[in-house]
Amino acid sequence: MHAIIGAGPMGLATARNLQKLDIPFIGLELHSYVGGLWDIDNPHSTMYESAHLISSKRMTEFAEFPMRDEVACYPHHSEMKRYFRDFAGHFDLCRHYEFNTRVVSMTPDNGGWEMVTERNGEQQTRHFAGVLIANGTLHTPNQPKLPGEFAGQLLHSSEYRSPSIFKDKRVLIIGCGNSGADIAVDAVHHAKSVDMSLRRGYYFLPKFIKGKPIDTLGGKRKLPRKLKQRVDAAMIRFVIGQPSDYGLPNPDYRMYESHPVVNSLILHHLGHGDIKARRDIKGLDGNRVDFADGEQGEYDLILMATGYQLDYPFINRQHLNWPAQLDAPQLYLNVFHPQHDNLFMMGMIEAAGLGWEGRNLQARLVALYIHQRRQGSAAAQQFADTKRQQAGNRFDGGYDYINLARMAYYVNKDAYLKALKQHISELEAELQQQNVAQPVALT
Ligand SMILES: Cc1cc2nc3c(=O)[nH]c(=O)nc-3n(C[C@H](O)[C@H](O)[C@H](O)COP(=O)(O)OP(=O)(O)OC[C@H]3O[C@@H](n4cnc5c(N)ncnc54)[C@H](O)[C@@H]3O)c2cc1C
Repeated sequence: MHAIIGAGPMGLATARNLQKLDIPFIGLELHSYVGGLWDIDNPHSTMYESAHLISSKRMTEFAEFPMRDEVACYPHHSEMKRYFRDFAGHFDLCRHYEFNTRVVSMTPDNGGWEMVTERNGEQQTRHFAGVLIANGTLHTPNQPKLPGEFAGQLLHSSEYRSPSIFKDKRVLIIGCGNSGADIAVDAVHHAKSVDMSLRRGYYFLPKFIKGKPIDTLGGKRKLPRKLKQRVDAAMIRFVIGQPSDYGLPNPDYRMYESHPVVNSLILHHLGHGDIKARRDIKGLDGNRVDFADGEQGEYDLILMATGYQLDYPFINRQHLNWPAQLDAPQLYLNVFHPQHDNLFMMGMIEAAGLGWEGRNLQARLVALYIHQRRQGSAAAQQFADTKRQQAGNRFDGGYDYINLARMAYYVNKDAYLKALKQHISELEAELQQQNVAQPVALT
């Protein structure tokens, strides 16, 4: 029996793929139902009331379960919660799950894993042949220490739910990733003032170009990397200008070397003076904040949109091939442990445009590997050799990613999917041959 930790999009994709190959599993989920962080009531959710998809629905949905036509291009998070509930219902996945069950610890045991789970305050110890970890990457806040003491309210974006907290306050948002940009826009309509402190420049993309979601543009023909970086950056400059036109720092790296901010409103509000751009924070004292350019501001509330850290509190780092000095476990394809053949890190990945179908393919490869390994297959053995030798290799497509913790598990979608699909086709070809010789039920 295998265990899947988590019933978010990744846990559900994993469950679906194990189901397709008749691999027995139990899902363990600390919340009362499926949906992961898209269920704002999940204690692990970092969703906020105004949040919508940042990637468009057709580029994000599972291929075998498209979103309904009447759903907006960038649906509200409540629509996503419904989508995942529908997905789980359609494929009858919930009956495999134990809800309100938290995984507390897991250790290698007798060729498998001993796991302690907790439900209603009671602990249970059990044994699994393999574990697929899909507990999400956006839960544990990355909260750098600020230089000084702040007398006002200090929050991380993970705690933010509703813009009513900004009412009549002088607000400073630190960081302008996708959440920071969304939250600053929310604050505009409630706060007395909104400032935003940025340490570095970002590429900003509008959600729509010519009436189409931006991630659906670009055509089928792939440009070479350097040309694509130049052409896309020039196109964005032509449409919206440069960040410095809005008072923001320009990026000192090339396009796609960090995750872009997809938001049509943040530059609009900067351009209207509703949001004031500030430089890096040099010091805090009481309600006063000093910025690196010598300017100052007074604030009632600081919201740190400083991202998240990978966190697997139920398993020792050494079992994840995660050296202390590195920001992410060193795995093959961000999933496969070089030695353990029964431990899989699901969804520990960020990439522009990967969507849930990319995550579904990840789960397909894992399910095929588990299935074919059991058959003692040659392709699975070959794959085991590859994962042992190439764990930690980056699928960056030649992009020189900037040196940030959150880029430690970032991949280039095209390079990553190419490798996934290659391995899937090798294992599937072998599975087909076996099925001709000895039919296996595949749904
Ligand atoms: C505001 C916001 C907008 C986003 N927009 C997009 C977007 O447009 N496109 C996109 O592709 N991605 C987006 N994301 C990224 C998002 O992380 C993924 O869409 C997706 O939710 C990841 O799925 P997951 O299953 O890996 O993790 P999660 O959704 O976090 O699910 C993990 C599950 O594991 C459970 N769990 C955790 N620990 C334990 C434990 N110890 N025991 C049992 N269960 C446990 C949690 O309760 C949770 O249900 C967005 C994220 C945020 C916060």
